[in-house]
Formats: sequence, structure tokens, C-alpha cells
Amino acid sequence: MIDKPIRSVVIVGGGTAGWMAAASLAKFLENMNVRIQLVESEQIGTVGVGEATIPPIMDFIRVLGIDENEIVRQIKATFKLGIAYRDWTRPGDFYFHPFGPTGAGMGSISFPAYWLKMFLSGDAARLEEYSIQAMAAERNKFMRPVHAPNTPLNKITYALHFDASLFARYLRRYSEARGVMRTEGMIKHVSLRPEDGFIESLFLENGETIEGDLFIDCSGFRGLLIEQALKTGYEDWTHWLPCDRALVVQSEHAGPPPPYTLVTAREAGWQWRIPLQHRVGNGHVYCSGFTSDDKAADVLLSNLEGAPIGDPMPLRFTTGRRKKGWNKNCVALGLASGFLEPLESTSIHLVHRGIAMLLKFFPDRNFEQADIDRYNRIFEFEFGRVRDFLLMHYTHTERQGAFWEHCRKIPLTDSLKEKIDLFRSHGRILREDTELFPIQSWLFVMIGQGIIPRGYDPLVDSLDPAKIKANLDAIRTTVKQCVDAMPGHKEFIEKNCAA
Ligand SMILES: Cc1cc2nc3c(=O)[nH]c(=O)nc-3n(C[C@H](O)[C@H](O)[C@H](O)COP(=O)(O)OP(=O)(O)OC[C@H]3O[C@@H](n4cnc5c(N)ncnc54)[C@H](O)[C@@H]3O)c2cc1C
Repeated sequence: MIDKPIRSVVIVGGGTAGWMAAASLAKFLENMNVRIQLVESEQIGTVGVGEATIPPIMDFIRVLGIDENEIVRQIKATFKLGIAYRDWTRPGDFYFHPFGPTGAGMGSISFPAYWLKMFLSGDAARLEEYSIQAMAAERNKFMRPVHAPNTPLNKITYALHFDASLFARYLRRYSEARGVMRTEGMIKHVSLRPEDGFIESLFLENGETIEGDLFIDCSGFRGLLIEQALKTGYEDWTHWLPCDRALVVQSEHAGPPPPYTLVTAREAGWQWRIPLQHRVGNGHVYCSGFTSDDKAADVLLSNLEGAPIGDPMPLRFTTGRRKKGWNKNCVALGLASGFLEPLESTSIHLVHRGIAMLLKFFPDRNFEQADIDRYNRIFEFEFGRVRDFLLMHYTHTERQGAFWEHCRKIPLTDSLKEKIDLFRSHGRILREDTELFPIQSWLFVMIGQGIIPRGYDPLVDSLDPAKIKANLDAIRTTVKQCVDAMPGHKEFIEKNCAA
């Protein structure tokens, strides 16, 4: 029996995280008599970046019952089939990390296992040629999956590039239409209950007081509730992921928008290019210990494909996470919960996961410690596995220069070391529990980064090599034929969801 149900939820912050939380709670707590209030300060504003996503964002949109073409139009989005890595492993090198499954198993033997055997003997093409996402991206094509058997067209997996402020504004309209109350104002003080240190109320600059049962901290890097009030603590991961600054600038299009994010390695970091319908988002992520802000700005501005719109905006960050994502009656989401640099576009996804986990362990006013502990273990595990995936991009390269040489010396985490050791011996990749990246993501990035196994899974020898070869050829041919038949990305947008 729920004798003490949550009566009010207070969300602090109206950036991407705050409005994602508000929209989800408005949807899932419908008919439960829970008052949902969001406080934000226009004076402080939002971080204003975060434009590339990964495929689970499409589930977030669908679950809210939002029409996909409608939101794509409103937030001026384009489609994303993966990430292209340019000059990353070494200058002149190029590899693609596509979304979605690649190839198909042969009986009980997985595609990665038999592809690897043929690759090691020089009898397989590059991985990208077996992925419909990678091949469509290379040729600027896009379509949604079709409902048909036995075709790679039924597996097309995609995400979005969108304008972050338009996305937040869309979710605000959605939330307010479902009863979420928005308060404009600057929070000056957070009051804690003397007996147990739980958050009791927020005091605004205008004299207003806001009370609540459950508080969601979406206040950005400052962590107004989770850190400044509750002193939860932060685990600094800069020794693994040393980039600590970014410069962000928008630019005009120099051609049709490609259906992928491009990331290019630079002397002390990397640069992103995210195409939207109306403009391009660009950013240079770098390590302040290895370059100056002026030099970083020169690198960014001299590598834009179209004319810049405005001046670069500087951002500083410390990669890491809060020691607890949920502390007492406060759950932190978004930048307030931690930050992993945006190389694989994972932050918005971690907001989504935080909301999903909060709903899974939704409390009553007793705030059972077992629920909180489990939430925190999942939070810790998932952040850690994303960190490992990012770290691997830096430790395994052949690039010259002080920054990249420093990165190669970064000690691996135990969990990443195990992953790489398993892969190096027989090409094995394990996905544990709820870790984010699927086996094929690890495969593409490990091969892309030049981590080549010494051997392959011995069980692949149960298959006739001639049959494997024929199967690989058939997959490649089918992928090519499917991509031939796909419309261009720009054409698809113009026909279905132009802003
Ligand atoms: C350089 C960079 C690039 C990124 N790229 C990506 C990407 O490609 N993909 C991705 O998934 N993520 C990316 N991210 C992360 C992404 O931007 C964030 O996860 C996302 O925007 C969520 O931000 P937020 O809502 O947590 O914080 P913010 O946008 O900072 O919002 C904080 C909110 O809190 C309010 N607030 C703060 N203090 C107070 C106060 N005292 N009183 C009242 N209100 C207050 C502010 O007004 C604001 O509304 C990137 C981040 C950075 C830094």
C-alpha cells in the first residue's frame, strides 16, 4: 500500500534535461495527482549545445506520442546514421561508426566472428561495406526502415541532429499542455530539513518559496541542488578524458546536409560538424594543457566549410560524474549529474536513461534506500562504460604531437582493458548488463582505431570458408543495391519533414 505518495515534483532547470524530465513525468504520472513544477532562470540561460543524438532518442519521441515528422520539422532536425571519424587514428585515415546491426549471423556464428576470420586472411572487404547505415551515409542517402522481410532496409537505424533550444522549446509546449507549471526566477537559496538533510524548499530572488517532495536537479554544471546544497561530491575523470574546453560556432551550409556527424581529430582535441536543416553546428573540443584558447579558435574558424554565424562561444567542463546520481530526495539529470565529452553524443541519452531509471524506481515519500542504491549502481555502471568507450578513441591512435602522445599513455580502466584483451585474442566482444554501446559499435571503433585481433573465434572453423565468402559477397551486394534505391537525405527531408 502506498501510504505516502509523491504529491509534488520540482524540476530545477529548463535546458534539454529539465524539459525532457518534465515531458516524461507529465506523460507517465498522468492521472496520479502529482503537481509538476519547473523553475528556470532566463538570466542564467541554458548551455545551448547538444545537437547530436543516438538512436534511443527516437524511442523517447515515440513513447511521448509525438509525431516524428512533426517534431523533425519544428526542431529543424536532420537524420543521423552514425559518426564519421576523419584523421582520427592517423592523418588521412577515415572510418565510420554506424548505428544499427550489420550483416547477419550464419547459424549460431555471428557476423562479427566470421567477418573477422575472413578479414584477417585478407578475404573480406572493409566493415563499412556490410552496413547499410555506413554506405547510405557515404552516399548522402536516407530513408526510414521498411516493413519487409530479409532486407537490410528493414533494419535502418537512425537518430537526429537538432537545434537544442528548439527541442527544449518543443518539449516545454508539450509539458505545459499536460499541466506542468513553469516558474521564471532565480533560485537564491535551497533549504534542507534539519532532521535528515532532505531538500525542503527553494527560495527565489523574487521572494517566492517553492516546496516539493521530489526534486530533480537539471541546473547544469553548477549542480545547484545535488552539489551546492547536498554536497554529493564529484568524481573527476580528467585523468582519463583530458579535454576540458570547447568553442562552439554555427555556420552556413556549404552543401546538402549529410546524414552523419563528422568528427575530425585536431592537434589537441577534435572538431565536430553537425548539420541541421537551417545551419551547421561546429565545435572544437580541446585540452587546455596542450593548446591556447586563441589557437583553438583559429583552428575552429579556419576549418569551417561555410561562413560562420556569430562568434565562437567558449565552454569549460570537467569530465566525470557525481558520486551519486540520486541523493536523498534529489535526482540529478543532465550536466548536473556529470559530463562525458560529446565525442559519441551520449549526454542527452544519459538524461533519457536517468528518467527511465527514475520511473522504474519511482519513490514514495519514504524514499526507500534500496531503490536509491540500485539507481546509483546503474548510473555508475552506465557512465563508466560510456567513459571506457570514449577512452578507447584516445588511447589507440598513431597520431603525432604532445596531446596524442599523452593520450596513448593514459592507463586503461580495468573494464576497458578486459574488453580490449578479449578482442585482441579471439575478436570476442561482450556486452554486459545495460551497457550502452552494442557489440557492433565496439567492433567498428576497435577496428577503426587499429586494434586488430591476433586470432578469431575457433568455432568459425565449423563453417565452410567458401560459404562465408559467398555470404559476405551477398551481403555487400544487397547493401549496395538497397542504397542505390534509397532517396537522397535532403530529398527525403524535403518530401517528409522540411522545416
Ligand atoms: C561542448 C558540448 C557539446 C555537447 N554536445 C552534445 C551532443 O552533441 N549530444 C549530446 O547528447 N549532448 C551534448 N552535450 C551535452 C548537452 O548539451 C547537455 O546534456 C544538455 O544540453 C543538457 O543540459 P542541461 O539541461 O543539463 O543544462 P543547461 O542547458 O545548462 O540548463 C540548466 C538550466 O538550469 C537553470 N538554472 C541554473 N541555475 C539556476 C538558478 N539558480 N535558478 C534558476 N534556474 C537555474 C538554467 O536557467 C537552465 O535553464 C554537449 C555539451 C557540451 C558542453
